[in-house]
Amino acid sequence: MENKILIEISARHVHVTDEDLLILFGKDTKLTFKRALSQPGQFAAEERVTLVGPKRSISNVIILGPTRKKTQVEISATDARNLGVDGIIRESGDLRGTPGIKIVGPAGEIDLQEGVIVAKRHIHVNPEEAEKYYLNDNEVVSVHVINDTRSITYHDVVVRVRDDFLAAMHIDTDEANAGAIEPGTYGRIIK
Ligand SMILES: [Zn+2]
Repeated sequence: MENKILIEISARHVHVTDEDLLILFGKDTKLTFKRALSQPGQFAAEERVTLVGPKRSISNVIILGPTRKKTQVEISATDARNLGVDGIIRESGDLRGTPGIKIVGPAGEIDLQEGVIVAKRHIHVNPEEAEKYYLNDNEVVSVHVINDTRSITYHDVVVRVRDDFLAAMHIDTDEANAGAIEPGTYGRIIK
């Protein structure tokens, strides 16, 4: 059974709808491809926005493409504290009852009513990989990482199986710092 999984660190980012993209960047704007992400079809865009919270702002926040059906802001718990919004841990897309925030772009701004989350740590796999790892969609596992300084076991890691996924675990920058995780680190899945 395969149990080694690549751990990738997700920095704060925003997903936008087509409509919100036009408000933020002006009409006829399309996201500009900057670099591919590990998940097929997903990419980091050149476009940047500023998040304006009740307490502080964070500028230069990256947008990930392609555009989505709902605008969603993914930040760390530290970011949430700095911005002055609740850091609610949710799976991507599960936005009901989450805080809103003001998003400012070069052409306009949006008062997002809800959609700010601290992403729940998760594993992406496609169905073939899921079989190889003996994982099921929505299963919750632990992932253990051994290093010289801050070995750590992440519990409550939710598995997401989809045809267009490739095996990788995603954690945010707070979680990475807690375990001194560097790019290219692998963890061991524990069931
Ligand atoms: Zn992910």
